Amino acid sequence: MPSTENQQQLDIATERAKCTFNPASFTPLFYGGEDRMRRLRKIEAMIDNDPVFDRSDRYFLGRTERFKRALAMVKRYVELRNEYGFTPDESAYFKVYVDDYIPVHLHESMFLPVLRAQASEEQAKKWIPLAENYHYIGCYAQTELGHGSALSRLETIATLDIERDEWVINSPTQSSAKYWIGTLGKMANHAVVQAKLIINGKDYGAHPFLVPIRSLKDHTLLPGVFIKDMGPKQGAISMDNGYARFDHVRIPRENMLMRFSQVSRDGVYSKPIHPKLAYGGMTAVRTTLINHSALSMARGATIAIRYCAVRRQGNVNVATNLESQVLDYPGVQYRVLPLLSHAFATIFSGYWMNEMYAQYNADITKGDTSLLKDVHVYSSGLKSYCTKLGADGIEEARRCLGGHGFSLFSGMIDFHRQFLATVTYEGENALLTQQVSRYLLKLYKDVIRNPNVKLSPPSKYIFSLVDRNAFVSERCQARSLQDFYKIEVILAALHHRAARLIYELAQAEKSGTDWPQLNLECMRLSKAHVQYILVENFYNGIRKRYNSSPSASPEERNLFLAVESVYNLHVFYTIEVELSEFLEDGYFSPEQASWIHEGVKRCLQAVRPNAVGFSDCFGFTDSFLNSALGSYDGRAYERLAELAEGEPLNSKEMMENGVIWGYEQYLKPLIYGEAGPYKGGNGTSKL
Ligand SMILES: Cc1cc2nc3c(=O)[nH]c(=O)nc-3n(C[C@H](O)[C@H](O)[C@H](O)COP(=O)(O)OP(=O)(O)OC[C@H]3O[C@@H](n4cnc5c(N)ncnc54)[C@H](O)[C@@H]3O)c2cc1C
Repeated sequence: MPSTENQQQLDIATERAKCTFNPASFTPLFYGGEDRMRRLRKIEAMIDNDPVFDRSDRYFLGRTERFKRALAMVKRYVELRNEYGFTPDESAYFKVYVDDYIPVHLHESMFLPVLRAQASEEQAKKWIPLAENYHYIGCYAQTELGHGSALSRLETIATLDIERDEWVINSPTQSSAKYWIGTLGKMANHAVVQAKLIINGKDYGAHPFLVPIRSLKDHTLLPGVFIKDMGPKQGAISMDNGYARFDHVRIPRENMLMRFSQVSRDGVYSKPIHPKLAYGGMTAVRTTLINHSALSMARGATIAIRYCAVRRQGNVNVATNLESQVLDYPGVQYRVLPLLSHAFATIFSGYWMNEMYAQYNADITKGDTSLLKDVHVYSSGLKSYCTKLGADGIEEARRCLGGHGFSLFSGMIDFHRQFLATVTYEGENALLTQQVSRYLLKLYKDVIRNPNVKLSPPSKYIFSLVDRNAFVSERCQARSLQDFYKIEVILAALHHRAARLIYELAQAEKSGTDWPQLNLECMRLSKAHVQYILVENFYNGIRKRYNSSPSASPEERNLFLAVESVYNLHVFYTIEVELSEFLEDGYFSPEQASWIHEGVKRCLQAVRPNAVGFSDCFGFTDSFLNSALGSYDGRAYERLAELAEGEPLNSKEMMENGVIWGYEQYLKPLIYGEAGPYKGGNGTSKL
C-alpha cells in the first residue's frame, strides 16, 4: 500500500488526469485576458523573488511585527512601482498578491480615487502628482465613532471663516472622532475628511476637504490634530486603522474638493448638478470589491477542493482498502462546490460592472449623468450580495476541512479574516439593499404611471407588473427537471419573483408602513434582483466567450460544457436556497420544487469529476495560497508538518536545559506537589 503522502499526490494527479478540459485555457479570462495575465504573472514573480515580501512565517507574527514588516513592504512596493511604472490596475494587483494590507493601502484604494473623482481640474493638477509620487500619503476619513452609515448625521464640521478665507475643521464631541480610518493611524500626512460644510451658520451637509494632518518635514502631528492607531481588530492586522480629532484646524478655502460643489471667495455655495455625484469614489471601490469577491471565493474553493480531494476518511473500498476521498461525499460537495460556481458567476458580473463603470466614466466627462443611477445601484447591490456570498461561502467551505481547517496553515483563515470587512466598509451590506430597493420601487412607480417609460435592460421585467391580473396568474412553465436547464425558464422565474417582491414592497409602503420597518422586504428584494443579474451575466458571458456550436473543436466544446456545468450548479443552488420565495405565491408547484432539489444533486455530480481542474483554472500560485492543505501537489500532511517546524514554540529559544522554557519555575513545582493537595473531589468547593 502506498504511504499516505504518496497517496495524496496520487489522488490529486488522478483528479487532474480525469479532467475533461484544459484548465489553463480558462485562466486568461479570470485575469482579464492574455496580456493582463502576462503582466500580472511578472508582478507575482517580482514579489515571490523578493525577501521583503516573504510570507513563510507570516502566520506566527503578531500585529506589531506585521506592521513593521509591512513598512518595509511599502517602501519596496513604491520603489518597484516607480521603476516599472505600474498602472493603477497593476498596483492594485501587486497589493492583492502581497496579500497583507500594507498600511498605505487606502492611499491608492480610496484617497487617490476620491481626489481623482472629486477634485476640480485645478486641484487635481496640483495635488494628484504629489499623491501619485507619495509626497502626500493620504487616507479617506468619513466614518466617525458615533456615526458611519448615516452620512447626514456626521458631526465633524468645516466652518468657513470668510475673512481669513479658511475652513475651520472641528470635532466638537468625542463621538465626532473620525474612526476606523485605514492608513490614518501612523502613515498618512493628509486626509480627505468628510465634514459638514457651514457658511454663516447654514449647514450644507457633508463635503470632502483635504486636510494636512502630519508635517511634511518630519511626519509629526500638525497643531490641533490628535491621532491614534485604534488597536487590534479582526483581520487587516498590519493596517494602521486609526482615529482622529480636530481642534479648530485651519485649512485654505481651496482645500474643499470642488469638482461638484464649490464655495467662492465671498462664501457663495453652488451645489452639484446631481446630488449622488459626490459618491463617485465609493462607487469605484464597490465595483472593485465585486472582482475581489470573485478572487476570494475562487481562492477558498481552490484550497477546499484540493484538500477534500486528497483527504480520505470513512467508508472503505474493499478492493483498494482505501477510504473515500471526502470530496465524494455529497454533503461535502454541497458545501464546497457552490462556492466555486459563485466565484465564476461573480467574475462575469464583475466584468459587466467594469464595463458599465468605464462607460459611465466616459459619459461623465461629457457631462452626461444618465448612467449614474444604474452604476450606483448595481455596484451597491452586487457589492452587498457578492461580498456576503464570499464571506459566508468561504467559512462554510473551511468547516468542510474538518479539524485541519481550523489551523492557520490551512490558508483559509488569514485571508478570510481580511475579506470579512468587505461586508461592512464601502456601504454596510444590509443598508445597501435599501438603496437598490428604493431604486426598483421608483422604477415600478414610473412604470405604473407611464407604461411607455424607458427602462434599462436589467429592470425591464418590471413591466410585467403593469397587467396585474396577468401577473398573478403567471406560473412556471417547467414540465420536467430538464426544462429548468433552459435559460428562458430560469429568467422567467427570477423575474417573476423579483417583480412580486417589488409589488409587495410598494403595497407595504402604500399602506403606510414606515420605511425603517421595511428592512426585510428590502433585503429580500435586493437579493432577488442581484441573483437574477448574476445568472443573466453568467449565461451571457459563457455564450459570448465559449464556442458551443457544431463547428467548435472538441477542446472548445469540452471547455464550454465544463463552464456550463458550473453555471447550472450556480443556478440550481441559488434557486434551491430561495425556494420558498418561488413557492409562496404558487409560481412553483411542489413538484417543480422537488425537481430543483434533484437538479442540485445532478449538478454536483456533473461538476465533481472536474473539481480539481476547476481549482487549477484560477492559476493561483502556491506562495499566494500559502496553504498546507491546498497546494498544487496535494502534499497536505507533509506540508502541515513542515510548517509546524517554523512554530516559535518549537524553537530553541523556548528550550532551557533541554526541556520547555518555564519547566523549573512553573511545571516542576506542580509535578512535585508544591501547589498543595487537591481538596475538592466530593462535588462541592469551598467557594
Ligand atoms: C476594516 C475596516 C476598515 C474601514 N476603513 C474605513 C476608512 O478607511 N474610512 C472610513 O471612513 N471608514 C472606514 N471603515 C468604516 C466603515 O465604512 C463603517 O464601519 C461602515 O460604513 C458601517 O458604519 P458603522 O460602523 O457606523 O455601522 P452602523 O451604521 O452603526 O451599523 C450598525 C448596524 O446597524 C444597521 N443599520 C444602521 N443604520 C440602519 C438603518 N438606517 N436601517 C437599517 N439598519 C441600519 C447596519 O446594517 C448594521 O448592522 C472601515 C471599517 C472597517 C471594518
